[in-house]
Amino acid sequence: MFRGQQSPARFLRGHSLRVVHPPWWKGDEVGYRAIHTYLSKHFPKMGACDECGESKLMTEYALIKGRTYSRDRADYRELCKRCHNEYDGIDAALQAGRRRAAAQAKGR
Ligand SMILES: [Zn+2]
Repeated sequence: MFRGQQSPARFLRGHSLRVVHPPWWKGDEVGYRAIHTYLSKHFPKMGACDECGESKLMTEYALIKGRTYSRDRADYRELCKRCHNEYDGIDAALQAGRRRAAAQAKGR
């Protein structure tokens, strides 16, 4: 992959911190927000969580895993804040949990 002394890492220094977005990226959550606005407008929320049935908490549309952001209601679930966080954060939480478990295992 590296040819001789020409390290791509050195070449990229100074640029590496810039996050490169794919061409379709519309910038900081602009597309994301537009879609959520569209969804709320065209598909009024029931006010109850699809997951736990909670109706006292605010509900929001959560993109179903594996789907891409679209204007199709079928690609979303209406979840309360708690379930939404759980649903979206489960991967990150798992990763963090694994790291913590690994660190603890070392300490013991
Ligand atoms: Zn819920």
